[in-house]
Amino acid sequence: MPNGTPNATAKWSKYKVEDGKLVRAESCPECGPGVFLAAHEDRKSCGRCGYTAMNDS
Ligand SMILES: [Zn+2]
Repeated sequence: MPNGTPNATAKWSKYKVEDGKLVRAESCPECGPGVFLAAHEDRKSCGRCGYTAMNDS
């Protein structure tokens, strides 16, 4: 049901929970705060400008 409950199923959040800790999502250095990088297995990428950062570990 897409209508009626706008925030009920929000997929994108500024925060995510890892091992019970609240972790702030990384924002894009190109777009600035407010635009967050999408996490992938080995990298993070910005869906807005195309910025990609490889994971260090
Ligand atoms: Zn960006």
